[in-house]
Amino acid sequence: MDSCVACTDEMFGVDGIVKSGNKKKMSRDMESDIESLYKAVPQLAKTFRIIEKIGQGTFSSVYLGEARMQDGSRGLFALKHLIPTSHPTRIAAELQCLTIAGGRENVMGVEYCFRKEDHAVIVMPYMEHQAIVDIIGTLSFEEVRLYIYHLLKALRHIHQFGIIHRDIKPNNFLYNRKAKKFALVDFGLAQGTADTQIELLKDLVGLSKAPRPVFSERNLNSCSLITTKQETKTQLVRTGELSSRRFPPARRGLATVRNQKSQRGVHHSLTCNCFQTDQVCNVCLSRKQQSAPRAGTPGFRAPEVLIKCPNQGTAIDVWSAGVIFLSLLSGRYPFFKASDDMVALTQIMTIRGSRETARAAKAFGKAVLCSRELPRLDLRVLCETLRGRRPVEEVCKSLDDCRKKRAVETPLLSKSKAKFQKVSQSETLVNDEQGWDTVPEEAYDLLDHLLDLNPMTRITAAKALEHPLFTDF
Ligand code: ADP
Ligand code: MG
Ligand code: ZN
Repeated sequence: MDSCVACTDEMFGVDGIVKSGNKKKMSRDMESDIESLYKAVPQLAKTFRIIEKIGQGTFSSVYLGEARMQDGSRGLFALKHLIPTSHPTRIAAELQCLTIAGGRENVMGVEYCFRKEDHAVIVMPYMEHQAIVDIIGTLSFEEVRLYIYHLLKALRHIHQFGIIHRDIKPNNFLYNRKAKKFALVDFGLAQGTADTQIELLKDLVGLSKAPRPVFSERNLNSCSLITTKQETKTQLVRTGELSSRRFPPARRGLATVRNQKSQRGVHHSLTCNCFQTDQVCNVCLSRKQQSAPRAGTPGFRAPEVLIKCPNQGTAIDVWSAGVIFLSLLSGRYPFFKASDDMVALTQIMTIRGSRETARAAKAFGKAVLCSRELPRLDLRVLCETLRGRRPVEEVCKSLDDCRKKRAVETPLLSKSKAKFQKVSQSETLVNDEQGWDTVPEEAYDLLDHLLDLNPMTRITAAKALEHPLFTDF
């Protein structure tokens, strides 16, 4: 059957998350974590009582702490303990983003920083917040509009300082629903534009160029075919390889990315012989590696990041904001859930079209080849269908050919079919009270501009704030 990677259960996340069951164990772990933090940075104990752990990422743990303030009141703080292996410049750069750009315009501020040996703790004001995954089903359209507006405001602000956040996602944009407060956090992956005002971001340039392990990144970069249960696969191929390797005829829906620029004059007479094997051949081992910044979370990464375009700018954050908007409009979180970059690129193509993706890639010197055409979807029809407000068939109305219809319809929206039936059966549509029946065209127009495949023409955060969707703000 014709089905593509993007059309899996993994995409279009379902509401609700599985929470860890063992509470007792959790709290014992937490106690010992808190204990070791006090030990690692003893001066913390003089000021703070650490109450609980509130966040655990790859590069840090975040704790809630309280302190007695000068006026006798109790102040709450978020204490971010960075993993001791973080590069000192990385830590300093994160701190500098917060001190220079933070504390206003929906960007988190910073109060103190503690350090002992290689342990650093960034102390921020604590902001109570709700996880999007927990509230997505109850958000009204007005709330979504407000959320995106405030996210764009934060982006405009940091982009003015030449900060590229690189990890824009709901977990890094705190939302206090009651107080209608917003705060962008986590500059742990931030980079600077060429003219950034954050001095330490300039010093990071050399740091991110560390060689990557051969059998993960490089393998993917040069020759291995990403095999999944589905048939559509995406591959990054370097110049010259296309002439020397043929897609096996049985394989369909295969997307390929190659460097267009280096095409001129370069002749690769060597033929790779590890194609579709789980090994890396000598030809591929000797290929010059293509390096480009690649931080972030696959599902939120911009196409130019996935395609490893070397000069990435603030537009990558705008794309991520677009993915968040798409998620909120469709009521699915996370929207794209990809295990790696090639799967993520294929998922993008499923929504935005494979031909359109190829055209955009061409503008920044890359060729995307896709053996099967994935049609561009109408965003309103897509979102309303995923919300269960339209029968699945409508998504395919706009598609002219039967084969395309089948490719999109069956797997992509099977879940929504049941949802639609449920919604249309219930007489009072709760959805309507939340404004989901009257989403204005401007919303989808802005979404379309945020999810512009070409970073050169993608709307900026500043321009997006002037969009007709926000005229009354
Ligand atoms: P990481 O780099 O590990 O992702 P973050 O800075 O994103 O670290 O923080 C992880 C989590 O901790 C956030 O998603 C948020 O839930 C919580 N957090 C971070 N800063 C604050 C804060 N100032 N107030 C409240 N919670 C915070
Ligand atoms: Mg984070
Ligand atoms: Zn090879």
